[in-house]
Amino acid sequence: MTRGHVAHGEEERITFLEDAAVVVRDGLVDAVVPAAEAAGVPAVERLDARGQVAMPGLVNCHTHAPMVALRGLAEDLPTEEWFNDVVWPVESNLTEKDVELGARLACAEMIRGGVTCFADHYFAMDAVAAVVAECGIRAHLGQAYFSSQGEQGRQQSLEFALHHRGGAHGRITTALAPHAPYTVTDADLAATADLARAHGLPVHLHASENRDQADTSLARHGVTPIEVLERTGVLDADVLIAHGTGILERDLSVLARARGRTAVASAPRGYLKFAWPTTTPIRALREIGVPVGLATDGAASNNSLDVWESMALTSLIQKSTEGDPRWLTSRQALHHATLQSARAVGLGDRIGSIAPGRRADIVLVDLTGPHTQPVHDLAATLVHSARSSDVRTTIVDGRILMRDRELLTLDVPAVVRELGERMPALLDRSHGRRIQEYDT
Ligand SMILES: [Zn+2]
Repeated sequence: MTRGHVAHGEEERITFLEDAAVVVRDGLVDAVVPAAEAAGVPAVERLDARGQVAMPGLVNCHTHAPMVALRGLAEDLPTEEWFNDVVWPVESNLTEKDVELGARLACAEMIRGGVTCFADHYFAMDAVAAVVAECGIRAHLGQAYFSSQGEQGRQQSLEFALHHRGGAHGRITTALAPHAPYTVTDADLAATADLARAHGLPVHLHASENRDQADTSLARHGVTPIEVLERTGVLDADVLIAHGTGILERDLSVLARARGRTAVASAPRGYLKFAWPTTTPIRALREIGVPVGLATDGAASNNSLDVWESMALTSLIQKSTEGDPRWLTSRQALHHATLQSARAVGLGDRIGSIAPGRRADIVLVDLTGPHTQPVHDLAATLVHSARSSDVRTTIVDGRILMRDRELLTLDVPAVVRELGERMPALLDRSHGRRIQEYDT
């Protein structure tokens, strides 16, 4: 049970209740009532959240959690060199243990930053699923593959998705995870679409990540990456598209007529860092009813898994690119970070707001600091003044994973020590191998 301000989200109306309490039972929100009314309710545990806001946990809609191991390794490079010279050579050394330790560190970072669910797209995902089960966070997981792996890559992605679907007491949902239209052939994308339909699985992939990819696809194939997804049948499934900063005008009608549920994940920090010329066209996507969830991408490009920062940056970049200070208000930013993100990962009816019947994925944010006082507009305070480090308590499925900034399910110093010991082997590029070639 918590007491303080409570934020709800429905459509783009974010509602705040003052001096309210959230009653949680069996991992679900049971009721939201005036604090005085909750005083008499028998409870196993009471959290006093005076001076704090209870809000739905943030969702990181696209990341590669274990890549925290490569944080800061490939700096100030164009996308192509970042992939070909550093990231893909290093990833050819990856072991399951590296992935496990990276996932532990990533989950610790996310729980500390108020993230209660993340959509992950990586290799050796059995190890990530095990970490999710152990540390208590919620996750939407997909085993990534390239066509260069042959049919085996796709098969392993399917086996992973079927085996782990509904795992960790329902906290794990899964997707098929082809890497991108520039690394997976049309035939393999079509086969993926067939599997998605046959097994009722969603698809999570990168597409039209930047304008360069859209232009190259048009020059080589006469179609955009989004049109590739349509003609291969991928848009008949439920699809989560990472980035989409290269989505063109002509793609909007394609996305509008997609038969599956389509969503886009936006991770604005990386776009700035790679100096991509455009960002996710959130306003145009809103007009055609495509939800946009917020994300960080992997820490090897973004340097952090801070969705709070993605929320503030999304608001600022949208104002700047649209030339409109009225567009993407703080309330809209909160809506993207919570309900739209929940929809993007296929959990729109289970998480994303604090309401009876929803899973109790809740964060408590401390607003007593000098940088968050006074509060004239609570939404603005949360988006533009508060920081991820103001999250004091993180709860998933009613279980407290961080209490007063202390992580209860993960041992960060132990993970950092063990990961450090593995670095020389992981970072060795003397073999000259790459897991894949970047050539859009
Ligand atoms: Zn990515």
